[in-house]
Amino acid sequence: MKIPNQETLQAWDDQHVWHPFTPHSVFREEEPLMVVSGEGNYLIDIEGRRLLDGVSSIWCNTFGHRNARIDAAIKEQMERISHATMLGNSTVPATILGKRLADLAPGDLTRVFYSDNGSTACEIALKMAYQYMHQRPDPKPEKKKFLALSNAYNGDTLGAVSVGGIDLFHERFRTLLFDVLRGPSPYAYRCDSCQGLSACGGGCLSEMERLMRAHAHELVGVIIEPGMQGAGGIITYPEGFLKGVRALCDELDILLICDEVAVGIGRSGYMFASEREGVVPDFICVAKMLTGGYIPVAATLTSEKVFEAFLGRPELGRTFFHGHTFTGNPLGCAAALAVLDIFEEENVLERLREVTIPKFEERLKALAHPNIGSVRSYGLGAGIELVADASTRRSFASSERRGMKVCRRARDLGVFLRPLSDVIVLMPPLSITNDEIDLLFDAVEKSIQNEFQG
Ligand SMILES: *Cc1c(COP(=O)(O)O)cnc(C)c1O
Repeated sequence: MKIPNQETLQAWDDQHVWHPFTPHSVFREEEPLMVVSGEGNYLIDIEGRRLLDGVSSIWCNTFGHRNARIDAAIKEQMERISHATMLGNSTVPATILGKRLADLAPGDLTRVFYSDNGSTACEIALKMAYQYMHQRPDPKPEKKKFLALSNAYNGDTLGAVSVGGIDLFHERFRTLLFDVLRGPSPYAYRCDSCQGLSACGGGCLSEMERLMRAHAHELVGVIIEPGMQGAGGIITYPEGFLKGVRALCDELDILLICDEVAVGIGRSGYMFASEREGVVPDFICVAKMLTGGYIPVAATLTSEKVFEAFLGRPELGRTFFHGHTFTGNPLGCAAALAVLDIFEEENVLERLREVTIPKFEERLKALAHPNIGSVRSYGLGAGIELVADASTRRSFASSERRGMKVCRRARDLGVFLRPLSDVIVLMPPLSITNDEIDLLFDAVEKSIQNEFQG
């Protein structure tokens, strides 16, 4: 492929490409990067700038760009086959990956259903859980509803949007969506009862208990992002929240779906965040980090108990009628296998827990500025919430685009970032070094200082 010059590319981009989650009226003025290549934890743009990928290309790059082991695994697979269907059929990489994910997963999650992104991984869990209620040995077809939290984000397809709880993204589509019971977001900083405390006072779990007891007869399941709500603004849960929800699910015959699309595959310091939280869900959804951030492959893990409810002669209609063309793509599965090899052979989780995350947390703790309202983190992911007035927790007007502006400044200091409104998100590749953590935080501190000077 011959690469056109920068001007031509910009013109074509402006004329033809519609970008995701992007207000196009300000797209060009916010100076988007034109990425040409990557190298380790860095992006390289058309002007030859090298930028630390501080959000791992939207939270999915696990071990850097052009990682030699992942590259080699994909090339090796490409020389065998790049795609074959999994509908009634198997491929070698998807089979091996299924076995490895099942071995790694907490508890009795032995079944792996593939798709190709986080939204579909969640849709699949929702549909499986729903159908399960009709087909289990003691059917409960009156169980039809899901409970999801305010500020939840599970993707952009309509089922995922139905359980989503971010008004800015989801409210527009409300009449198209199925009805969901809405639980509280554990957003201590902006919670009426917690009043800016650093952790939830426990009211969230009580409210969950109230809702779950009142609606147990009609609840299929609860869908939760374990550890933290990601796109909602890196909102971390109080200690024991997920365990509490799991206990209620057990008691009240409700399924627990953990959307680990953001926090799964190492982000939390554990392979699965559920594991870190000491919980075995009925479903785990993984996507982003699974293939190293190379190729879209997602997986929905569930138990033998759920799987068995779908057995029976085909004419009984118990089959799960769902599947995507590129489900379990062999190149993606080969990449995922290389990722799991790296975790294992390079003791990644140990290094994360003992070296990288402590260093990351130490720098987070040292952040101080009058416009920083709240700093929240989970594993190797953090959110820094900027406010106009820290004493009243007053936000900036969204038109000020302060988060974007701070990230734009960080770029001039060698770091690529993308905020969630006025929350500066730090979500680097797991391969980030301690020196690169310093580069990341030095750039963030300086960018915040510069943005609010005078
Ligand atoms: C990104 C994300 C999704 C959606 O994944 P896509 O691959 O973008 O469809 C779902 N849930 C969570 C928690 C996410 O962070």
